[in-house]
Amino acid sequence: MRALLAGGGGFIGSHLAEALVARGDEVVVVDDFSTGRRENLAGIVVEVVEHDVVASLPDLGRFDAVLNLASPASPDDFRTRPLEILAVGSRGTWNLLDLAAAEGARFLQASTSEVYGDPLVHPQAEDYHGNVDPNGPRSCYDEAKRFGEALVVAHAGVHGTDVGIARIFNTYGERMAPADGRVVNTFIAQALAGEPLTVYGDGSQTRSFCHVSDQVAGLLAVLGHDGRGPFNVGNPVEVTMLELAEKVVELTGSASEVHLVDLPAERTGDPARRRPDITRAREVLGWEPTVGLDEGLARMIEHFRSNEDLG
Ligand code: NAD
Ligand code: UDP
Repeated sequence: MRALLAGGGGFIGSHLAEALVARGDEVVVVDDFSTGRRENLAGIVVEVVEHDVVASLPDLGRFDAVLNLASPASPDDFRTRPLEILAVGSRGTWNLLDLAAAEGARFLQASTSEVYGDPLVHPQAEDYHGNVDPNGPRSCYDEAKRFGEALVVAHAGVHGTDVGIARIFNTYGERMAPADGRVVNTFIAQALAGEPLTVYGDGSQTRSFCHVSDQVAGLLAVLGHDGRGPFNVGNPVEVTMLELAEKVVELTGSASEVHLVDLPAERTGDPARRRPDITRAREVLGWEPTVGLDEGLARMIEHFRSNEDLG
């Protein structure tokens, strides 16, 4: 298979590139490296095209699959790059869909648990429609991703494009950018530096963390299926941010303290609880995560330790 992987220079994208290459696919990564890093692709045999997918795509040959992971994804980016997020979620996605339709290629859309906003239903199944503020600090991302899903569905309806939607829940692991403000990488970097771990608010908010190896297996399952979904792809084991901080201190053996600090203003609307219901992915795709949080964190801590620029 020949695959175009938009956003392949990023955290999840680079692992996906590695998995596609390992199974024998030819991969063309298209990335503007706005939040990704070329080093993420070191040692992975792919063609790299530095390009912003919001602009018309160059002729890159024929493709059997188009995978859209291009988008800044951290809450820090929501503050600093809101227009870029809206542009790549709309025009960027549209350009990639047009290419997939012209090629008769399978299109994979990396959507997000953020489409559920600050959910009022728990856990979140795919038929829950969400609780989203259209003009809060997270709206550029939430609405871009919701628009992205609408666009994917409309494109399939009008042009017959073969599409699959994966709603990715919080994913962590090796190659996560160390300083992008997301919680797992932040806590590990703080613990390794002997600095206090900054738990926002009272730390009772929850997330459910999926190791990137499981995430990639889930995305490949959506790619390989012929259904549209959407499919929640995440790990349903839920932890509070206080529990996560304590676990990171324990696993790193750090002397760091855990501090409760005020929720930063740009985090207003921070979802209180998030956990995927993955029944659909289990039953339809035959996929479920296998890496527990302790094991996944241990792998990530080891990676941060052995890469001085990260630790
Ligand atoms: P990332 O920032 O590491 O990767 C995104 C990649 O897209 C980067 O390499 C970046 O340079 C590239 N990119 C951004 N805008 C682009 C543009 N206009 N043209 C070309 N390339 C562009 O983030 P990630 O965590 O790997 O996320 C990958 C995808 O998964 C994103 O679509 C994100 O919304 C989605 N997602 C991630 C998570 C998570 O927990 N990591 C959760 C839900 C959804
Ligand atoms: N968080 C925290 N301390 C930090 C960074 C994040 O307590 O230094 C919390 C944040 O308030 C949120 C959770 O961790 O409740 C997950 O944040 P992240 O940015 O990783 O993902 P998202 O909020 O997009 O799920």
